[in-house]
Parts: sequence; structure tokens; C-alpha cells
Amino acid sequence: MFVLFEHDDGNALNVSYEMLGEARRLMDEFNGRYALDEKVIAVLLGQNVRELAYRAIDAGADAVIFADHEELRYPRVNLYTKVISAIVRDRSLVKQAAQSTSDEYVKPRYMLFGADSIGRHISSTVLAELESGLASDVNKLVIDDVTITHQYKTNGKPELYKHVLFMYRPDFSGFLWTQILCLDNKNPAIAREYSPQACSVIPGVFKPLQYDGDARKRVEEGYARIVEYKPEFNSDDLRYRIVRRQIIRDEIGLEDSKIVVAFGRGIKDDPEDNIRMIEGFAQLINAKVAISLPLSKQPFSVSSALKERYLIPARVVGSSGKKIAPKLYIAIGISGAMHHLVGMKESDTVIAINPDPDAPIKDESDIFIQGRLEYVLPILIESIKGMGSS
Ligand SMILES: Cc1cc2nc3c(=O)[nH]c(=O)nc-3n(C[C@H](O)[C@H](O)[C@H](O)COP(=O)(O)OP(=O)(O)OC[C@H]3O[C@@H](n4cnc5c(N)ncnc54)[C@H](O)[C@@H]3O)c2cc1C
Repeated sequence: MFVLFEHDDGNALNVSYEMLGEARRLMDEFNGRYALDEKVIAVLLGQNVRELAYRAIDAGADAVIFADHEELRYPRVNLYTKVISAIVRDRSLVKQAAQSTSDEYVKPRYMLFGADSIGRHISSTVLAELESGLASDVNKLVIDDVTITHQYKTNGKPELYKHVLFMYRPDFSGFLWTQILCLDNKNPAIAREYSPQACSVIPGVFKPLQYDGDARKRVEEGYARIVEYKPEFNSDDLRYRIVRRQIIRDEIGLEDSKIVVAFGRGIKDDPEDNIRMIEGFAQLINAKVAISLPLSKQPFSVSSALKERYLIPARVVGSSGKKIAPKLYIAIGISGAMHHLVGMKESDTVIAINPDPDAPIKDESDIFIQGRLEYVLPILIESIKGMGSS
């Protein structure tokens, strides 16, 4: 199982540790169940990243294959795709990392990427290059055997598939899980293998391992391996260059705000008035305003002033938006889909206003106010104003 170890100019991203923790758990179970000795290998690209290789081993990797090059300092899709694909296809390199690699090895069995802006992009181009499938935004993984009968893939006959990675993806606001399988064609007329079975993993859902911090010792004693791949680039590879890099922060400042008031599709019955009321409430408690992802698609008809101010991607909280950890997060008319929760679950205190007692946001809330925002918010606003004058 290969895991892309993502970092930001040398600072490892949490999702890298989370994926390695999950990969370790999955492959320990896999090796026990199938009496095999298959490894977790982290793939690490960047400049001056050798030290990070030890962090990857502490986090669960048996081995790390790294490529250190000034052109790899920041992710660039064409270079990263080329290097990652070359690494995972290079049998002798993989054998150096994992001695148990079979002589028939062609491509990995499984691959994991982070479902963030880098991993989502690179996973798609790498899997296109490796000619296999990709499940995106997964939050549960299971390896199991399964018998499938399929008109085309198995020519209508039941066929046993072994070592299948069941990739679960939350859909329909997280109320349903879609199970995605990447299966070989066992029908002789269209026979074809699909490997690796690969996915991008939502940040924040898997638990990293507790670091034991003895990676150096394990490498010295040969229990873990660090292998270097030396990439070579031609002029075509380098036709895009980074000449200047600037991180542009938006002016909303959700990340820096102690209080955030977020609203979602629950405003639907009277979008204009409800957004205005939420705006007033946020001003009263000195909060910044955030939204759920669907609101950024501007699903409701509201005045252009409100649309331009609030229904914009820069205010989205979640796996496709900001990850914030304010002291107080107030979720108004938000159901609490997994994709939203990963953006706000580090908040100190969460208050939710929602008429649905079964809304998943309830489990994430310290205070759940069951009711329509149109009733609850005016009472809150009046009480807070009353507190100010008393
Ligand atoms: C790949 C992918 C990435 C995604 N990334 C993100 C992301 O980053 N951020 C994100 O937010 N979503 C994201 N989503 C979408 C996510 O799965 C949910 O669909 C979305 O979060 C739901 O938004 P919502 O809670 O506003 O709407 P809904 O799920 O429709 O919930 C509306 C809630 O409002 C309540 N309500 C109804 N009437 C009222 C009322 N009068 N007063 C108060 N409450 C009321 C309802 O009970 C309900 O719980 C992503 C989805 C995918 C597939």
C-alpha cells in the first residue's frame, strides 16, 4: 500500500499521518488474515525532505521512497505525476524498499492520497497515468473478499475477488455511504487488471498512530527502509516553472476569528431575510460569517449585495473550504455532513440551531437548540441585546 506523504515546504500535513495510521492498521490486518508480508510505503517528494522520511516511518510506514530535487519543492502536477508514477512502477526500487516484493510486481495493490487541493489533483493524474480507477473523498476503508456477478466484468457468472479495497464515500449530505470497488475484468472477452485500487482520503477522519519516535533506530537496524529515487527532468517537463510564489489570504479572516456564525440550506424558507438576520446576529456578537458548500453555489434568489458578500467560496467551511478552530462555532440550518464537520470539529464550543433532532450536527454540538432559525434567532438576539443594556 503506497501513501503519498504530503507536506507544505517541509511541514507535514496531518492527513499524511492520518493516512499512514490507517494504512498501517489495514495492512497489519491484511498480512495477518492472508498470511502475507506486504508493506506500507510512503512516497515523499520535495526539496530537503530526508528528515521527513523518519516522520513517515514513525507514523506507520515500513519504508519511504523519496525524491529530493529543487524542482519538486512545491507540488507541480506534471512533475509529481511523472515522479510518483515512475517510483511505484520501478520494481527494483520497490524491492529495495520492501524485500518481500514479488518478481511479478508491476504496480501497487493500493494507493492513498489526501483529499485536499494537492492530493485530489495529483491522485487523478497519477491514476490516469497508471491506467486504473480512483475513488475520491473517502472516509472509511475495509479490505475484504467478495463474490460479484456482473454482466460485463464477470460475463454474468459469479466470480470471487480477493483483497478488494472497499472505499466508502459519504454522499447525499453524509446520510448515505457509496461503496466504490475497483475490480478487474474477469470476463475473458475484456480481461483486464485494474491496479492500484486507489482513493483520496478526507482529511481529519482517520486517527494517526501514536509516534514512538524510534524511526532512526529502526532504519539503522534494518526494520525500516529509506530509499532514494533520483528523478531526471527534460526540457519538456520543465516547460512550466514557478518564478514567484505568493500565498494569497482572503480578507474575510475566518481562520483568525474567535467566533464564527455559519449558515446552510436551512435558510431556504426566506433566504433574504434570514441572511440579513444572521448578518445582524454576527455583528452583535462580533463574529465572522461562514457558509456550507451548497450555499456557495448560490442556490437561492437573494439580492446581489448579499450574494456577493456571503454566498462565495471563500466563506465555505469543510473539506473543500476552510478548516477553522474558533472558540465558538454557531451552525445555523446546517445538517452536519462529514464534509462540513471536518472543517469545524476542532472548534472549542459548538452551538447548532436546527429543527431536526436527528441532524448529525447534534452529535458534534455542545448545545443543540432544536427549532427553526426564524423562531430561535430573534429570541437569542433580543436576549443578547437585553444583556448589553442591563
Ligand atoms: C466531494 C465533496 C466535498 C464537499 N465539501 C464540502 C465542504 O467543504 N463543506 C460543506 O459544507 N459541504 C461540503 N460538501 C457537501 C456536503 O456533503 C453536504 O451536502 C453539505 O454540507 C450540506 O449543506 P447544508 O448542511 O447547508 O444542507 P442540508 O444538508 O440540506 O441541511 C440543511 C439543514 O437545515 C435544517 N433546516 C431546515 N429548515 C431550517 C430552519 N428553518 N431553521 C434552521 N434549520 C433548518 C435541516 O433540518 C437540515 O439539517 C461536499 C460534498 C462532496 C461530495
